Amino acid sequence: MSDERTAIVTGGGSGIGLAISERLAADGAAVAVFDRDTSSADATAAKIVASGGTAVGVTVDVTDRSQIDAGVADVRRRLGRPTILVNNAGLQGFDPFLSISADQWNRILAVNLTGTFDCCQAVVPDMIEAGWGRIVNISSSSAQGGQARMTHYVASKAGVIGFTKALALELGPQGITVNTIPPGFIDTPMLRASERQGFLGEGVDHHASRVPVRRVGRPEDIAATCAFLVRDEAGYITGQVIGVNGGRNT
Ligand code: NAP
Repeated sequence: MSDERTAIVTGGGSGIGLAISERLAADGAAVAVFDRDTSSADATAAKIVASGGTAVGVTVDVTDRSQIDAGVADVRRRLGRPTILVNNAGLQGFDPFLSISADQWNRILAVNLTGTFDCCQAVVPDMIEAGWGRIVNISSSSAQGGQARMTHYVASKAGVIGFTKALALELGPQGITVNTIPPGFIDTPMLRASERQGFLGEGVDHHASRVPVRRVGRPEDIAATCAFLVRDEAGYITGQVIGVNGGRNT
């Protein structure tokens, strides 16, 4: 149980991060909703508070280390020492390989991979002090199977998987687990934007009919897995890649 623990969820203003924030709060954690978009971070926190939970919205762009450090300091003051971190903020891109500019490449790496690194470095000292911690990094099933026109995104998410494995080995002795969930085909604003822009080909319904479990994933599917990984009883699970994709990748 994450009861009475403080959790930080990045990109908590939308989609999967919103569902994870709500679920961890329902399980008893005080949740700091980090998002670069102040209004969505605040809206998620207000929704949690309205249903009886504890949450605050914090404006943090995960590509800015000074904002991360200030955000974490704010969390310590308002909610207490954070010992659960979910690195969920993400940015995708669909671009033919030869057209990817250095700026596009660097931007996607900055949000997805360096943002994960910086948030971990900012929060791990609190976990070491507590002798307990749980880190869940949201990667992507595209890093398991590859995806054309997403070399920048897939490389960043494959980096998150490798980073997770290495950090798990380093932090295991301190009571901190580090795992990654690579979601596959989850119905969020990000997925619907891809559909609108024509990047999914035949659209969400068509793809859902081909998923082995015959439906599109829901943000709650990822939240449920995340909620389990942050529990005390998941303490023997670390360095793992826990696919939640309806059977599309095994
Ligand atoms: P989403 O609905 O777009 O939510 C992502 C959230 O992250 C948004 O609130 C976004 O804010 C925020 N964010 C983006 N850049 C940020 C930054 N630099 N600092 C702080 N917050 C930032 O997407 P989602 O589908 O829930 O995706 C959540 C995670 O799952 C991502 O890491 C994504 O790569 C991963 N994922 C999703 C799927 C899927 O099928 N949906 C599949 C594989 C992996 P803005 O709205 O302002 O950009």
